[in-house]
Amino acid sequence: MGSAAAAVENLVVIGSGPAGYTAALYAARANLSPLLITGYQDGGIPGGQLMTTTHVENFPGFPDGILGPELMDRMKSQAVRWGTRLIEADAEALDLSQRPYKIQVDGQTVVAHSVILATGASANRLHIDGEDTYWSRGISACAICDGATPQFRKAELAVVGGGDSACEEAVYLTKYGSHVHLIVRKDSLRASRAMADRVLANPQITVHWNRQVGGFGGDQWLEQLQLQDSEGSACETLAVKGLFYAIGHTPNTRLVKGQLELDAKGYLVIEGGSPNTSKEGVFAAGDVADAQWRQAITAAASGCQAALAAERWLSHHDLAVTVSREEVEPKAAELPQPTTTATEADFSADALWQGGSYALRRLYHESPKPLLVTYTSPSCGPCHVFKPQLKRVLNELEGAAQGVEINLEDEPEIAAQAGVTGTPTVQLFYGKELKKQWRGVQQRSEVKQAIEALL
Ligand code: NDP
Repeated sequence: MGSAAAAVENLVVIGSGPAGYTAALYAARANLSPLLITGYQDGGIPGGQLMTTTHVENFPGFPDGILGPELMDRMKSQAVRWGTRLIEADAEALDLSQRPYKIQVDGQTVVAHSVILATGASANRLHIDGEDTYWSRGISACAICDGATPQFRKAELAVVGGGDSACEEAVYLTKYGSHVHLIVRKDSLRASRAMADRVLANPQITVHWNRQVGGFGGDQWLEQLQLQDSEGSACETLAVKGLFYAIGHTPNTRLVKGQLELDAKGYLVIEGGSPNTSKEGVFAAGDVADAQWRQAITAAASGCQAALAAERWLSHHDLAVTVSREEVEPKAAELPQPTTTATEADFSADALWQGGSYALRRLYHESPKPLLVTYTSPSCGPCHVFKPQLKRVLNELEGAAQGVEINLEDEPEIAAQAGVTGTPTVQLFYGKELKKQWRGVQQRSEVKQAIEALL
């Protein structure tokens, strides 16, 4: 890149799903040096909804399909390769009352001439009694993340919902559970025909039509679901060890509530067919403004439109400060590499990060340092998000602590012994004692502080 970035950003993209990364890619190639705020825990995880899906089979260009998290890794790398700058944190507040616009993020105020909102939508919950009690003790919002955990193996499981997500998750869970019950509140599936057919043809899945979840039962872990009919009267009880929610999404428009026009369901209102919101220089892309199509490809397309619209708007108002490139062709994109499993031959007593139970045993018994043990599974999108943050913490601590990664798919017995119920789970050991455990994506600072407290 040539000249330094302007004090006022040309364009800030908020959100890191297909819409956000595509918008950033187009803006970067237009030499606008966009800043992309990925989000971290607010409204889902960086990378968006594809981070919690398995095979994406309908994104053009991948004839054999591609894993959702891998597709997002690729989009991110492509946007970064062309000069997108990232802030990996949640945008905390957005002030659109006057131009240039102001964004509070990661302890700083970013000022921008134009903004693309690509904050997506978050998974809904049922909000019924007992949900909090059994959350992560049988109830999960992500079959793809948690399906491989030992508690669900060879157990009867249930999915609630009738859309593509519910069908995809029901089929996915047949890999692990002995039988899957799909609880559908109407007498038909909303899912696409191909997806619905897969469910209906699968002998390992029973569809319960016109049923809703009415309540839960179990001791420490979910053991049963009470079902209700469409009038709300109690019906059968299902003995299941897992219930996975797939009941749609709510748009992430908290940042702009009261500032931009929203529809009755909270989606951003855009001018028919364009990415323009109700404020000049503020554009929308992806699911945050789309209650209807909600596909990775439509989100990506709307990200492209939003970037082109922003570029035109910036040049029309003579606001763009473009950067010049030193090299016409940027360096090749970098993609995250999988962790290799250490064996007796290649185990390193000093490595900051290595994989497998051999390394875990050795370091647990021999290392005098704090040890971070991270349980992951190959299709777990939140693991893709959290692992680089953990590695960054270990790098920042310059070898004062070490990390081991355990793949649940390869070594389920290790996870079962450790009482792991989902991925990512991170356990912090010191002197063979478990000091702390985290479930799901956490702030990097929290992990760092916990390790520093032991040093
Ligand atoms: P949808 O909004 O399409 O479906 C939500 C489902 O949950 C509906 O069947 C709805 O029932 C049901 N539901 C909602 N609230 C409740 C409740 N309180 N109790 C019981 N059931 C409830 O969401 P999805 O996440 O499935 O899909 C979102 C978008 O992503 C879609 O466009 C879909 O096509 C796409 N997608 C594509 C995939 C693929 O192609 N591989 C995979 C996953 C998603 P009802 O039908 O009665 O309203």
